[in-house]
Amino acid sequence: MLDSNVENVKSRLSIDDVISGYLKLEKAGSSLRAKCPFHADKSPSFYVSPQRGIYKCFGCGKSGDIFNFVGEYEGLSFPETLEKLAQKAGVVLEKKNFSESGKKNNKILDCLEDLTIFWQKNLLKNSEVKNYLKKRGLDEKLVKQFKVGYAKDSWNETFLYLKNKSYSEEILEKAGIIKKVEGGKIYDRFRNRIIFPIFDVNGKVVAFSGRDFSGKKDIAKYLNSPETIFFNKSEILFGFNFAKFKIREFGFTIVVEGQMDLLMSHKIGYSNSVASSGTSLTEGHLKKILPISDKIVFCYDGDDAGEEASYRGAVKALSLGFNVKVADFPEKKDPADVILKDPEDYKKIIKDSLDIINFYTNRIIKKNISLHEKIKLLEEKIIPLIFNVKNPMEREVYINSIAKNFEIGNESILKSLNIYKENFEEEKKKTNFRKKFQEKNENQNIEKKTEKGIIEPVKEKILKQLIGIYFWQKNIARKDDFKINENDLEKIIENIEVKNFSDKLEKKDLDKISFDMEILYLDTDKKVLEKEVNELFLRLSEFLKKEEFENLQRKLKQAELSKDLNLLEKIKKKINDLYKNI
Ligand code: ATP
Ligand code: MN
Repeated sequence: MLDSNVENVKSRLSIDDVISGYLKLEKAGSSLRAKCPFHADKSPSFYVSPQRGIYKCFGCGKSGDIFNFVGEYEGLSFPETLEKLAQKAGVVLEKKNFSESGKKNNKILDCLEDLTIFWQKNLLKNSEVKNYLKKRGLDEKLVKQFKVGYAKDSWNETFLYLKNKSYSEEILEKAGIIKKVEGGKIYDRFRNRIIFPIFDVNGKVVAFSGRDFSGKKDIAKYLNSPETIFFNKSEILFGFNFAKFKIREFGFTIVVEGQMDLLMSHKIGYSNSVASSGTSLTEGHLKKILPISDKIVFCYDGDDAGEEASYRGAVKALSLGFNVKVADFPEKKDPADVILKDPEDYKKIIKDSLDIINFYTNRIIKKNISLHEKIKLLEEKIIPLIFNVKNPMEREVYINSIAKNFEIGNESILKSLNIYKENFEEEKKKTNFRKKFQEKNENQNIEKKTEKGIIEPVKEKILKQLIGIYFWQKNIARKDDFKINENDLEKIIENIEVKNFSDKLEKKDLDKISFDMEILYLDTDKKVLEKEVNELFLRLSEFLKKEEFENLQRKLKQAELSKDLNLLEKIKKKINDLYKNI
């Protein structure tokens, strides 16, 4: 039933209509193209095929249909995307049936929701906790909005409560709420902690972070849920569910480190804040924000650890194409401290935040160290940053200002950049080589496994390319374009097991591979394309001959065993002919 909803919506919306609501599309052959919204794209490498209803970016490899696009662009779950597009298409959705595993997953979310409410009630009854929160600056409105709660000082209160609500142990364990020790004893993971629920992008509770407030020395200050099917630390940004609307409105994102920082930042109106909550900021986090805004301000603690953490995050952000600023916090102070003392100070710090390169350059210059050490830091910290600035004019401005600040010539900075670039590319080459090598190994493994007659991956790949080019050319190519000789292709498709392969291809696969080939060869001269096609044919026929050869050898052995001299002669002749042919 779900499928019929999807098909229904798809049939009423054209992909170019949907995507042009988000991006400016321009014509490119029979496709449309734009700068890719999913990575820092300098020239348009994002292609949309109206005929096929799909898109693909040649830069980052993202591809899919209208559902993939809208879901990813807006950070929506599939059901939400369906709802949104159905509305646009004027389709009334049929109710769907959940599968067994879907039901279980729903139970996990229900359980997390129930527990959140239970812990919220606990908090309201505990004046010690309420006082602590007040002292930290969290008012009632904020506590309610973020569904802050309290888990009592008990080993099994949570477990018993949820068991009573008939959640199974399996669900509770999968939700990351209980811990099972050897011997089967079960106890609550969160005890005597203030609970900050962690929301997914849609505002559903998927995990918890518990803060100790007893101040005991031997206890970790924060305790988080383990990773679960809903909680992936490198993907989920704390506060993003609230912030995503404001980020677009304000035109930039504030990144803070901790839960307290985040709540306080939201409290005073910076609802465009998100927190990495203790883990390092990953590309996964950043890619969630990038489609909404490419400006980001790092508000990390004013200590060495904070500086180091924001530096690492900032390099990642720069390389993804963000415009990065860093806010300068006083020694040993974090956003929560500053806001508690005076919100105006925080606003000023944000306003005065410096663009990342100037921020770190100033830091180095102000340090009480020798010039030699400063130059070393310049090399280590600033050069990699400049390397990641892709705009040549911006780059030049930075280089000029650094040259002035450190009293050195532009040429030596350029030289350092070149050395860095060479090392970087060397590293990249090595990584690529390792990857290729691994792939090759994997392929060889597959080939061994598939010796028993299923098509080998390499052969499959060539075939796909040929079929892709064939259908692209056949359906929509311009008149004067090079065309694959149908007979040649059909001869091959009809050949042996290849037949199975083409039968297995569905229309949607065909669309995908022909779109791939169209993008790949869109700007290719037709003579070059012709040459490539011939090469593909050649490689393919070599494969087929090799297979036939192996086949004949097997038959030869059998004939030898059965002593069928007549057959033996026939096979030998065939092998000879094949040899001559090769
Ligand atoms: P608070 O203001 O409540 O004292 P903080 O944010 O100032 O907390 P930090 O020590 O600066 O605390 O840590 C920053 C963030 O790192 C925390 O908000 C929390 O998300 C995470 N964190 C800190 N300690 C731990 C821990 N022991 N385990 C997991 N995460 C932690
Ligand atoms: Mn703090």
